[in-house]
Amino acid sequence: MNKTHRLCLVLGDQLSFDLPSLKGLDAEQDTILLVEVMEEASHVPHHPQKIALIFSAMRHFAEALKQLGLRVQYVTLDDPHNSGSVPGELRRWQSLLHPVELHLTECGDWRLEQSLKDCGLAIHWHSDSRFLCTRAEFSSWAKDKKQLRMEFFYREMRRKSGLLLNGDGSPVGGAWNFDAENRKALPKGLRAPSPMRFSADAMTQHVLELVAKNFSGHYGALDNFDYPVTHDDAQALWDYFLDWGLAAFGDYQDAMASDEPFLFHARISAALNIGLLDLRKLCNDVEAAYWAHRIPLNAAEGFIRQLIGWREYVRGVYWLKMPDYAYGNLFGNSRPLPEFYWTGDTRMNCMGQAIDQSLKHAYAHHIQRLMVTGNFALLAGIAPTRICDWYLAIYMDAFDWVELPNTLGMVMHADGGYLGSKPYCASGQYIKRMSDYCRNCVYKVSESTTDDACPFNSLYWHFLMRHADLLRGNQRMGMVYKNLDRMTESKQQALWDRGQKLLAKLDAGESF
Ligand SMILES: Cc1cc2nc3c(=O)[nH]c(=O)nc-3n(C[C@H](O)[C@H](O)[C@H](O)COP(=O)(O)OP(=O)(O)OC[C@H]3O[C@@H](n4cnc5c(N)ncnc54)[C@H](O)[C@@H]3O)c2cc1C
Ligand code: SF4
Repeated sequence: MNKTHRLCLVLGDQLSFDLPSLKGLDAEQDTILLVEVMEEASHVPHHPQKIALIFSAMRHFAEALKQLGLRVQYVTLDDPHNSGSVPGELRRWQSLLHPVELHLTECGDWRLEQSLKDCGLAIHWHSDSRFLCTRAEFSSWAKDKKQLRMEFFYREMRRKSGLLLNGDGSPVGGAWNFDAENRKALPKGLRAPSPMRFSADAMTQHVLELVAKNFSGHYGALDNFDYPVTHDDAQALWDYFLDWGLAAFGDYQDAMASDEPFLFHARISAALNIGLLDLRKLCNDVEAAYWAHRIPLNAAEGFIRQLIGWREYVRGVYWLKMPDYAYGNLFGNSRPLPEFYWTGDTRMNCMGQAIDQSLKHAYAHHIQRLMVTGNFALLAGIAPTRICDWYLAIYMDAFDWVELPNTLGMVMHADGGYLGSKPYCASGQYIKRMSDYCRNCVYKVSESTTDDACPFNSLYWHFLMRHADLLRGNQRMGMVYKNLDRMTESKQQALWDRGQKLLAKLDAGESF
């Protein structure tokens, strides 16, 4: 084997040709290392499709690097010499190749980065330029601010990127944010485009067999795997969305519909998060579609806001606040996660729909995650670490830097309002307004206290009553508490009793 000058470790979510640590590699002297390890695949029970995606995309990327003439060492999960962890493999290859330098782009997971920093090797770290805002830039923006707000961060990112700006620096359309136009329910008869599917090639087939053999105890179906694993296929998925989904994305961003798991959503988050798509190119394509009059402004601005606003913002908060952030628990919740999150075995139609499709596709769109499964966990007082582990395990796109702030901060409000100024709690009325789920539910969304009443209704008021000391003073909750105060005492008591009954059922391990 030729002597290695630089050994560059590429992680499973770093599959970008322009990864900073890959820049300036010498094909004669340097080696790229990719490793499939049990620790990363099983520290939570990741959905089998997610493991398959990452391993298959890694293998395809390794082949593409070899085609470029670069030297690559690839360790498969079943390699008998595989030590089972990323630091273990780095140490093993360090002693096999004796490189002069070790190079690595910063990780997406605090736990892994820390274990690499602690592994006793001198690593040359590279900042991850695939994001618009570096960790250092975010922390200097956040410095001295009492409260962070995504909206102000987002404006900075618009200015920095120049996206959707007029010549004088003002926002196109006269406003920074058109979210108010993006909350329409799906009109009857409007069908979403059918999802683009990718069939498995021989390399992916091998990976699917490996995953079936090694991860049969993880929740989620493997046989529906249809996700892109190469840069070209990810591009095809993106082009399909530009043509068929984006124009309606803005209007129906918050809508939900039975047996429609994807609606007008792009389904690109997993491909983007592992490096098969490039953030800046996506944003430029969306802006170009707007200037070419192919899509309305609320779709263009809404999509760009998700990418350079929310996505960059949650990453910034994560790196600013870790590791303490992971232990936030404002409401002191301790209830275990109900078993039906892993099986879909519930009579609540909205929960059943969201969980079933998550098990089937490793996918649910934002509003399902926030206002259905997330809302239930918030109202039911589930321990934040338990629900965070579920989101990290079940979704194809879930990596700690993006999953944790979204779940612990946005959904559970467990960080005390650092990420969002108020909890996104809602009764069944919200779900009724934004979906057709309630029409086919055994529970009555119009009822709150009867035995067949929608569980979200009483749990919502129960949540507000039991946390009044923490939430009543929040200006944005003023109206909600006024409504509570207007209720008669007997109504409040009936809501409390029904909420207590439902929570007792959860504690007894019963589904409803
Ligand atoms: C509780 C909870 C957990 C989440 N966990 C993850 C996660 O682990 N990984 C993940 O990528 N997204 C996560 N999100 C954000 C969002 O739900 C997904 O990005 C989105 O559903 C992915 O589907 P899509 O590609 O069809 O997105 P679209 O709805 O088409 O949106 C376009 C893109 O915007 C980005 N985006 C939108 N909202 C967010 C957000 N809040 N944070 C970060 N990026 C965003 C994504 O890259 C997404 O691909 C979570 C949201 C919630 C409420
Ligand atoms: S009635 Fe309640 S539980 Fe049933 S689908 Fe509607 S919101 Fe969900």
